[in-house]
Amino acid sequence: MRRFPLDNWETRQRGYKFLSPTTYSAHHLGLDISANIGENLYCPTKGFVANVTSGPQGGKTIWLVLENGWLVRYLHLDKIVVAPGQPLEEGQIVGKSGNSGLTTGPHLHMDISRDGELRLNDLSNFIDPEVNLQMLVHPSMDKYNDKIVRNPLGQFGLVVRGKKFIMPQDLGTLALITFLQRLPSPNAFDPAIVNISQQDWDALPVSPNLSFN
Ligand SMILES: [Zn+2]
Repeated sequence: MRRFPLDNWETRQRGYKFLSPTTYSAHHLGLDISANIGENLYCPTKGFVANVTSGPQGGKTIWLVLENGWLVRYLHLDKIVVAPGQPLEEGQIVGKSGNSGLTTGPHLHMDISRDGELRLNDLSNFIDPEVNLQMLVHPSMDKYNDKIVRNPLGQFGLVVRGKKFIMPQDLGTLALITFLQRLPSPNAFDPAIVNISQQDWDALPVSPNLSFN
């Protein structure tokens, strides 16, 4: 089963986010997410272990290459239980979260390099773990992207990059146009309303606002 790197992924506290405007750091190319020492870390899809390293900054680090070619790194680990070259199954445990390296406390730092190679000076090769993992783990949600969805209870949502923004019930046409104009990719937006099952609705994480950070 495909899965997120940690259990209860959706409800964990986020620290530094991937190039988010409010927490921008030129040196932060991944996502920091709360984790205690010794929690299971999973490989999201099939893949293999590209490397295992240890350094003063990243601490114990595991380098995974997923079946789609992404290089995914987990930093600051307590323990690594796989070896370089080892093939991995979907959801296989690869190590335990920890507090190694330069940290202010236990957490998981993860980053994703799209083409499978780490180039620290090439920002365009790093992708946002938050939104991209969501689509990787729940690929069936892809079909709702850039659409207005309506659930069986009559609630409406705008879906962008794997997250839903729940629209106010009394939204009029003018307000809708305003919403669409503020979307990251307004031209890609399909104005048709798509019915969504309650199960799929519940599986889509909520975006608190239309910036979808
Ligand atoms: Zn970090």
